[in-house]
Amino acid sequence: MYLNEEMNCQDTALILAVLLLATSQRMAESCRGPGPRFSTRHPHKTQVALVYRQHIPNMSEKTIGASGPAEGKIRRSDTKFKDLVVTLDQNVVFRNEEGTGADRMMTKRCQDRLKTLALMVVNRWPKVKLRVIEAWDEDGNHGRDSLHYEGRAVDLTTDDRDEEKYGMLARMAVNAGFDWVFYESKHHIHASVIADDEVSMGSGCFPKDSTVTTHDGEVLKMDELKVGDKVLTYDRDTGARKLSDVILMMHENADTVANFVKITARTENGHQSIQRQVTLTKNHLIYKHESTLPDRWHPRAVFAEDIQLGDYVYLNSYEITNSTDFAAAKVTAVHSVEGKGVFAPLTAEGSIIVDGVAASSYAVYHNEYISHALFYPLRLLWRWGFRWSDQPTTTKSISGVHWYPGSIFHIANAMLPRGSLNP
Ligand SMILES: [Zn+2]
Repeated sequence: MYLNEEMNCQDTALILAVLLLATSQRMAESCRGPGPRFSTRHPHKTQVALVYRQHIPNMSEKTIGASGPAEGKIRRSDTKFKDLVVTLDQNVVFRNEEGTGADRMMTKRCQDRLKTLALMVVNRWPKVKLRVIEAWDEDGNHGRDSLHYEGRAVDLTTDDRDEEKYGMLARMAVNAGFDWVFYESKHHIHASVIADDEVSMGSGCFPKDSTVTTHDGEVLKMDELKVGDKVLTYDRDTGARKLSDVILMMHENADTVANFVKITARTENGHQSIQRQVTLTKNHLIYKHESTLPDRWHPRAVFAEDIQLGDYVYLNSYEITNSTDFAAAKVTAVHSVEGKGVFAPLTAEGSIIVDGVAASSYAVYHNEYISHALFYPLRLLWRWGFRWSDQPTTTKSISGVHWYPGSIFHIANAMLPRGSLNP
């Protein structure tokens, strides 16, 4: 049951307070691939050592989905220099060959990951410590656009310099939450992170070739969709198709290249079997069928990256079966793909049918009900007839994120207990 109609005055006041708070926050960016994900679970952690020259994720370092683009060198005279933190951790040894302390300087996110990794090292090898041989570089010793110039990268060894350990050290760096880890040389591993100002923001998105269906059956691509369009969504309580207004484009940028999860699913009803594919960022929520009985409607919103082979998702089967109910379909393939354009339409219903597959409008936070509640003020304003200005310059950041979702996730990030952020 959704909260919009049942919300009492106190809830409304609380959420309007959040809205007021949000308006004081600055605009934000999103769809940063692994991006922020608020969850208490830690899926898919393995203990397999990386091989020499392997990097995780398997894409280049500065793409969205890994550590993201370089933002420019930080020098001591820059205002951004004050955002770098000095790391004093007794579990970490610093080479500090420059004698300037530069190797102790890095972004906050980089430091958090480093401290986590240092503990993992001590736990695994009790007599060994993590050693940093390079962090922030102010001397221009790295290649052009290196993330070392921004304090977003570290080069790591163990203090016993046992090169046999480095493949496993790289794996541990992945598990510690570094956004890109590279077994770069026989003598060290390189690990980097997303820029701090990208971290606390985010939404999940669909690429621009993804399609939605409007009230009159027209199929529109994401970049043709407009606020006010009535599109096919579905009712999460009944499993039936439902038309709902697009009330906001939370993110729209036709040029951004991002990494997506492509999910293929097929229904199992013989000759009428339908196959569909949906593509979305891995931190976007999609409905997974939570029952062993295929004909029962029992959805749960999960991150796209948590969908596995053999899971069931929901397809719109109307064109073939004439049924307005959605059909549970078995996932037959999951791929990681690069795609162009990032679009995140928010419907009043909170769900959306994309490429014939039932997905949520929400991302980043694992609890869809809370996300839906946080966007209640927008639905209320929509019902009162308020329409967001269509001018990107006033409501959107340069990269195309609407200020409201950007701010909401800023606040959520600040309010959630440490450790609940799980990129
Ligand atoms: Zn490096």
